[in-house]
Formats: sequence, C-alpha cells, structure tokens
Amino acid sequence: MQTLRKVPLDNLRLQYEELADDINRATLEVWQSGKYVLTQGTQVKTFEAAFAAYIGTSHAMGVSSGTAALHLSLAALGIGSGDEVIVPANTYAATVFAISYTGATPVLVDVDPRTFTMDPTLVRSALTPRTKALLPVHLFGLPADMTRLMDIAHDAGLAVVEDCAQAHGAEWQGKKVGSFGVAGCFSFYPTKNLGAHGDAGIVTTSDGEFARLVRRFRYMGQDVKYRHEVVGFQERMDEVQGAVLSVKLPHLDRWNEQRRYQAQRYNELLAGTPVTTPVEPGGSKHVYYVYTVRAPERDALAEYLTAHGIETGRFYPRAIPEQPAYAHDHHLEQYPVTAAIQRDMLSLPVFPGYSDDDIAYVARHVRAFYEERGS
Ligand SMILES: *Cc1c(COP(=O)(O)O)cnc(C)c1O
Repeated sequence: MQTLRKVPLDNLRLQYEELADDINRATLEVWQSGKYVLTQGTQVKTFEAAFAAYIGTSHAMGVSSGTAALHLSLAALGIGSGDEVIVPANTYAATVFAISYTGATPVLVDVDPRTFTMDPTLVRSALTPRTKALLPVHLFGLPADMTRLMDIAHDAGLAVVEDCAQAHGAEWQGKKVGSFGVAGCFSFYPTKNLGAHGDAGIVTTSDGEFARLVRRFRYMGQDVKYRHEVVGFQERMDEVQGAVLSVKLPHLDRWNEQRRYQAQRYNELLAGTPVTTPVEPGGSKHVYYVYTVRAPERDALAEYLTAHGIETGRFYPRAIPEQPAYAHDHHLEQYPVTAAIQRDMLSLPVFPGYSDDDIAYVARHVRAFYEERGS
C-alpha cells in the first residue's frame, strides 16, 4: 500500500522546534529588557555586526522588511522622478514596487531561460541617459551573472542594488551576494533561507556614507532624535527580530547545505524525466530558496502532486508585465522568456530538516506522473 506523506513547500514549525530553547531564551530576554524598538536596545546592532561579517561588508542596517531594504537603498542613492532603474521582468512585485515608490521608472528586461536571472545582454540594450541603477535579483537562490552586470555598471557609471531576498549565503566566484553592489537587500520573511518571526530585512554595504543615509532614511530622516534632515520613513527592524535572527544566523550555512543536498538528490532522481532541472553555473553557489524545474504539462503535474500530499509553487503565477499595477505600459510578449517560463516553471519542496524519503517521495511522483501519461 502507498503511504500518503505530506510534503509542504516549507515547514516553519519544524525550524522553530529545532531551536526552540535558544529562541525562547533570547526573546524572553527582549521582553524582560523593556527595550522593543531599534533605537533603544542592542539586539539589532548585535545582529547587524554579525550579518555584515557573514556577508563580507563593513556595514549592515536592519530594516522592517525586504521591500523596505530595496526602497531605502534607492532613496539613499537619491533615485527619483525622471530616473530609470533596470530590473528583471520575472521577480516578486516588491522589487519593482521599490523603484516606483521613489518616483523612478522601472525598466523591465527579460531573463535567461536556464538561470531565470536578468540577461546581461538585454541590460546593455536597455541603457539610456536616464538609467541610474541596475537592480538584479538572485532569484530562487542563484546569483545573477555579477561579473557581466558589474562590468556594465562600471562602464556606464551606474549603481548596483542587489535583491538578495532569496539568496542569503549564495556566492558568485567565491564572494557572497550582497557584497557586489553598493547595496545588498535581504528579506527575513519567515520562509526565506534566513527567516525572522515576523517581517524584517537588512541592507549590506561597504560604503560608509551610503550606510549613514540608509540609517537616516529608515528612521524618520534623523541622525539625532527630533532633528529631521530629510523626509524619512518608519522602516526600522524590531529588537525581537534581531534577537531571533542572531540565534538563527549560525545555522544558515548548515541549512543551505541541506537545501543543496536535497536539490542534488532531485537532480539525480529526476534525470531522464521530461522535466528540466535547475542549473548551477560554474563559480556560483546556489542556495535553493526553492527548487524550480521547467515541466511539460505543468498544471496537470502540479494537480497530481497535490493529490499525493505534495505542495508545489509557481514563482510567479503572473509576471510583472501582466500585473494590473503595471499592465498599462508593459506587455508580456515583449518578454518571451518570461512568458515561456511562466507556463512551465514549477517549484518542488526543499527545506532544512526534510528527509531523503521526503525528497524521494516527491521525485517518485513526478516520475510516475509522466510514466502514466506515457511520455
Ligand atoms: C521576499 C522578497 C522580497 C520582499 O521581501 P519582504 O520582506 O517580503 O518585504 C523582495 N524581493 C524578492 C525577490 C523576494 O523574494
């Protein structure tokens, strides 16, 4: 008899249970301290120092979300109305929203069909005299081609703001993402490779002046209390999130290794099936926020897997040009790769703590689906 397993895309309770004693102790300390927001306590400061050291930058600034990290970075660069920022057409809405918040224009470019990241060739042809920055996304945990993107930025005198929301610990040529551009923007949304117990994010940088401006913008435009230098924002990280993240950070590399191991198992177990498994170009380290294949008959496969207790994801079911918020001046047909992957991308569960049996169960059902259809 077949056993019905449940394999969700993520399991946050599993992660909490693994570290429950440490997390409970650290958060209790925050409650007892009476210091709950960033300017009062030391939890965020301590985490910022640890995270900057982990990424390899001189500074890190804790903020209220990944979206805030992107928004504050663009604001600190002085990007605004009349400016253009180049961004991939297949990403989470937050990446593009951050540009729109500043009044600048998001210029969408298509992605590479194998890596799902911004295509550097298309970036070159999207440059105009108004271009101020590139905003590559290390989607699904795989770094964008930072060698070519940094070359383009250097030649054209552009800032690079990296969206690292799905790529904590990912590397390009031995260097961590978040240390290439002037800004690395991370989300600690609970399901991310490093997740808080609520919303939080961080900006990494090695530019002292940029760090100072992000700190100013994240808390009401102040360098000192009640002196508002600019119209700032209320986008700082809470102390309790700093405490949780400090407990979790030392486990990130081990968790990423588990994700990489599970991805490797899928690669082996899905070989010879009609699905195209993800790539990891030489010199890059993929951290598999999700394991994304391209699958013929994708929707039928997803339904089949759901019926067997396996949760799957589509990131994203609608690309940016098709979002009502942006559809007025973009058309999906201008982005043929984004249009194609949107029809056949499917993400399978990988998560720290999942067993070999969980992964084999999922892979066996992908294989069975195609066998039953005789393809
Ligand atoms: C999660 C995510 C964000 C936004 O982060 P929040 O913390 O949810 O605001 C931005 N970009 C990408 C690619 C993401 O996956």
